[in-house]
Amino acid sequence: MKINCLSCGHKVELDDAYDDFEGQVKCFVCTALLEIKTEEGNLKTVRFVKLVPRPGVWGEGAAI
Ligand SMILES: [Zn+2]
Repeated sequence: MKINCLSCGHKVELDDAYDDFEGQVKCFVCTALLEIKTEEGNLKTVRFVKLVPRPGVWGEGAAI
């Protein structure tokens, strides 16, 4: 299944282990932490937890 990252919009691919899952996953594109809850392969809730700053993501010299 795939979930849309609430921070960057990237589709984060999750394997079958996440078909029944409640907890945090990390977007590997922007490193945002998302808290998700899934049941039988369906996404029930997704909540943005926090964005972990990573140098260079926003471009050189960008103000945060
Ligand atoms: Zn993201």
